[in-house]
Amino acid sequence: MLVLVVNCGSSSLKYQVREVVPAPAGGTGGEVLTSGLIENIGGPAIRDHTQALELLAGRLGDELGGRTIDAAGHRVVHGGERFSAPVLVDNEIIRAIDRLAPLAPLHNPAHVLGLRAVQKKWPSLPQVCVFDTAFHRTMPEHAWRYAIPEDMYVRYGMRRYGFHGTSHDYVTGRAAQFLGVPREQFDGVVAHLGNGASVTAIKGGRSYDTSMGYTPLAGLVMGTRSGDLDPSVVTAIMRRDPSMTPEKLDAMLNKESGLKAIAGDHDMRTVQEAADGGDERAELALEMTAYRLAKYVGGYHVAVGGARALAFTAGIGENAAPFRRRVCDRLGALGVRVDDDANAVRSQEVRRISAPGSALEVLVVPTDEERAIAEATAALVERHGGRPAR
Ligand code: ADP
Repeated sequence: MLVLVVNCGSSSLKYQVREVVPAPAGGTGGEVLTSGLIENIGGPAIRDHTQALELLAGRLGDELGGRTIDAAGHRVVHGGERFSAPVLVDNEIIRAIDRLAPLAPLHNPAHVLGLRAVQKKWPSLPQVCVFDTAFHRTMPEHAWRYAIPEDMYVRYGMRRYGFHGTSHDYVTGRAAQFLGVPREQFDGVVAHLGNGASVTAIKGGRSYDTSMGYTPLAGLVMGTRSGDLDPSVVTAIMRRDPSMTPEKLDAMLNKESGLKAIAGDHDMRTVQEAADGGDERAELALEMTAYRLAKYVGGYHVAVGGARALAFTAGIGENAAPFRRRVCDRLGALGVRVDDDANAVRSQEVRRISAPGSALEVLVVPTDEERAIAEATAALVERHGGRPAR
């Protein structure tokens, strides 16, 4: 089955076409037939998402050598409290995603535009939404509640939702498989460290707690996001500097903080090189980032009643060996030991980097969110007997 994987933003549309071979023991969504990016939607050349879809259809016509897609799978950032699994799309689902816009004002309206544009271009094509938040719907209430007046939760939905769920889910499955443990018996910690970064406590193969919260700002120190801070920092800044509107504070905390604020650059490679060259700010930024993550891992080890593994994934987690070492050194008190040779290996495969006798197995598990979306889409369409549009 050919699945078009779509990640639709307000001014861009990222796509991949994957060949999914459904198999009884888990499909293979591995092969990427084509991929690309359409940018500047809303600009002079590409007026809107409908026009972007025309462009995409033209490209697919050229790139797929006459083959046509059988389904579309959309990455959707926010599924609120409603969506705990991928869903087949109909008009009611699209309206529900639109209603969640207050929780993800930059993302959900753009996803809705993408969903409607695909619907318009290929009316009989089955579409599936895969939500970034869905995997975290299994968190217990004591993990997702904020200790603020009930009204804030009831009226505004203020609670922890968590993000990167597709990746945490995929990596959990791969890690359990690698260790030869049934997924339902897998207790561990998954650290997804990209430009955005989050860490999830996995109990019985499910999300038990996660570092991102009401928005993807919470938790770890990230490329340009602050992660956790005392909320009074926000109100105090607003009081001291009335020009700091909510919009400006959002921009500051999401785009001008994190590694960028401390080291002057958001990119881990640049920061690591600067630190290696003796730059003290860069060194501090790395220490802050590793320290914060190690505190979470320690906390989540407790949360799941003893994790058996820690899995690193995404750009930093998969590639930044010195950073992994820094984090694991801080976990020495838990009995974590890293094998430096194994840690130095570069590979696309799942691998173990802990030394024999380490209290937790430390793994590197390459993530593949597009693959997970393609597989989920194919599985759902097959299950519902969705007939490919031709
Ligand atoms: P996104 O969240 O945008 O998908 P990625 O998962 O691609 O991000 O991760 C981007 C981060 O990974 C950047 O901070 C980048 O510096 C880091 N990264 C990628 N390759 C390396 C590497 N070889 N060494 C250190 N960091 C790396």
